[in-house]
Parts: sequence; structure tokens; C-alpha cells
Amino acid sequence: MMLRDIHAAIEKIGCLTFTTLDGDTMHSRIVSVCGGDEEGIYFLTMDVKPFYRQMKANPHVALCGIYPSGRKEGKNKAGQPYFRPGFFLRLTGEVREVPEEEVRARAEAGSEPHRYALEDAARYPSMKLFCVFRGKGEIFDYDFEMENRDHKLLRTRFAFGGDTVHGAGMHIDPEKCIACGECFEVCTFKAVEPGDAYRILGERCDECGSCIQVCPQEAIGLSKTL
Ligand code: SF4
Ligand code: SF4
Repeated sequence: MMLRDIHAAIEKIGCLTFTTLDGDTMHSRIVSVCGGDEEGIYFLTMDVKPFYRQMKANPHVALCGIYPSGRKEGKNKAGQPYFRPGFFLRLTGEVREVPEEEVRARAEAGSEPHRYALEDAARYPSMKLFCVFRGKGEIFDYDFEMENRDHKLLRTRFAFGGDTVHGAGMHIDPEKCIACGECFEVCTFKAVEPGDAYRILGERCDECGSCIQVCPQEAIGLSKTL
């Protein structure tokens, strides 16, 4: 997945939660992302805010957002909450403040987020531009009722700015698997592929753990975090 795909997903979401650390305490707030380019994802805040001070002390942030809506819209046939098909994006990364001279030079060169930052700083002098220049994350595309396809999830993991990411999903040890098919039967996400040794398709796996419960060989290992 390319940065432009991440920008397109963020553009659809509009505002995301940004989480920072203040000492040992996490703080989240909703932030409007003002654009992106080949370097990263841009957003603004004011240098008088705790958000600014937290990022200057610790540049690690976590972002999350959902499209089209996290609203529950009634119930499905099983009586569980119904969510319209969509996706959420989560990202953990590192930010840097973009110096004023760089904002000005990039704005003059035609960069839209930098031009926007310059205009906003003219209205609010303490406004500063930040860039998430390194990060890794996932787009978790869901269609739980399988309205538009024959499986519930499509998870796409990504990394940029030199970061690396692990694949999603549980793992089957082919040395231990006896191909009994129990995991295939129990998986409602259609994430298990039969074979001489069965295999889990990580991009479809919800990491629900049902397969681990039924495997007679303890052949299924837990997923890694991003
Ligand atoms: S963890 Fe859940 S979704 Fe993933 S393969 Fe096992 S049963 Fe399927
Ligand atoms: S339940 Fe365990 S042993 Fe059976 S097919 Fe799945 S991974 Fe292999």
C-alpha cells in the first residue's frame, strides 16, 4: 500500500483521533488532517496547547478513524449491532514540527498542505504544522454481513518513512498441523485455507481465537501487534 492510498483513506474519514503521551498518561483528541504528500501526513496545532507540548516532549503518536460511521444502525439477523460496511484506519508513528521557513518554501512551490498552514498561521500566529513522517498501521475494511463480498474482513497493513510492519492474523505451524479441518469449520471469517497443512489468510483473520480453541494440536499461534 502506497502513501497516496493512506491519504485517500484519511481524506474520506476527515477527522481522526490523535493520541499522545504526557508522562505516563495517554491523551486523545479529534484532529482534522490537512493533507499529505510523499513525506507524510500533515496536521496543525497551536504551540500554546498541551497537544503541542506533548509532541515536542515525545514525538510518538497513535491515530485512529472510521468511515463512513461508527454508529450502530439497528440489529442484524442474529440480533447483534449492525454496522454499515466501511473501514477504519489506525496508525502508530512519529511526528516532527515543520519549520516556518520550510512551510513557506513548500507553499511557494505549490504544496497544498503547506499553503493551508501558511494561511492558517496568518489568522492564528501560534499555529504550527506537524508531519507524521514515519509510521505503520492498518486499514481494517469490514463488511460483517457480507453484503458486498463473500468474506467479512480485508485487512491491509502498511508502513512508510522507513518503518516496518508485521502481517495481520493468527499463524498455523505447518509442522504441527494434521489437517483435521476443525479450524476451517469454526472460522466465520473464511480466513482458513485447507491444504496438506492448513493456512490462515491474515488479511481476513479477525484474531477472534475460535480456531485456537478447537485445534487438537495446539498448532495455531497468536498474532503479532503491528
Ligand atoms: S482467529 Fe478467528 S478469524 Fe482468525 S482464523 Fe481463527 S477463527 Fe478465523
Ligand atoms: S485445527 Fe489445528 S490441526 Fe486441525 S487443520 Fe486447523 S491448524 Fe491443523
